[in-house]
Amino acid sequence: MAASLATCLSLLAAPLAHAAEGEIAVTLLGTGTPILNVNRFGMSTLVEAGKQKLLFDAGRGAAIRLHQISMPLRDLDAVFITHLHSDHLTGLPDIYASAPLPTDDGRRTKPLELYGPEGIDSVASGIQTMFVENNRIREGGKEVDHEATSINAHAIAANGGVVYEKDGVVVRAFLVDHGHVHPAYGYRIDYAGRSVVLSGDTTYAPNLVSNAKGTDLLVHCVSVGSRELEAAYPAYVKHFYDYLANPEMVSRILGEARPRDAVLSHISLYSRGNIARATDQEIVERISKNYDGKFVVGQDLMRFVVSSNGVVRTPYQPAQRQLEPIN
Ligand SMILES: [Zn+2]
Ligand SMILES: [Zn+2]
Repeated sequence: MAASLATCLSLLAAPLAHAAEGEIAVTLLGTGTPILNVNRFGMSTLVEAGKQKLLFDAGRGAAIRLHQISMPLRDLDAVFITHLHSDHLTGLPDIYASAPLPTDDGRRTKPLELYGPEGIDSVASGIQTMFVENNRIREGGKEVDHEATSINAHAIAANGGVVYEKDGVVVRAFLVDHGHVHPAYGYRIDYAGRSVVLSGDTTYAPNLVSNAKGTDLLVHCVSVGSRELEAAYPAYVKHFYDYLANPEMVSRILGEARPRDAVLSHISLYSRGNIARATDQEIVERISKNYDGKFVVGQDLMRFVVSSNGVVRTPYQPAQRQLEPIN
């Protein structure tokens, strides 16, 4: 028992190697949806580009996943939101309120930089209102720095464009097609001649294809009802496919964009009655029918390093999910 606890502690204590100069590292913090799921936390992706640490979407549990990879919350340079659906936001109050607290990792002493669609200022002011008494109490107790209770909200221009530029890292937002949800953005991150594209929530969108053409890594959503479900409840399934890409649409996007590597995230699996959800295998088979390039079904904590060595995948490490001892 003691040995296994020691092993567990040493694994937890071992920080992942962070992105080196000239590299982009992408960690899938959450690959899920609004549906509660222990294995797939809410949508969130960490992109490290050189020294910059950028968080894209902040779904449920994002702060916990950052802790699992030994990334102090205070180290985040900026947070970018693709659109204002709850599953991309529910982890944000946690990051806002926890980062300024004194911990072994230090604490955030400056405002949170938050980028997102029109309406992001309401998100920022709502979170600040939610914690106004907390902030008063903690500031009074000298636990948090006043500066750290601020959020600098940056609304993205309607048609997107360059939203962030620092230390050679450029982040561009571009419109995607998330059905009735307007606006909804994807993001492209360029650094040192390399690039990563995040689809956000979208169905097939030509604008996504043009922004993702030849990128090193495309992180793409997928939405799946089994063939049995599609046959039994076509209208029910079509409703989802009108705003989130099914495997055939993903296949088309991958085929037109031809990224060097691709990973599926925001994995929506539908069921109804006794009809089971589609399996990862079914997703892979349906996409592979019309696409012969590299891609993988994402798992929380899966990591990709984009460098002169190409795109190197690191599968998630179950040991990182061990519970910490209570002390
Ligand atoms: Zn959405
Ligand atoms: Zn979503």
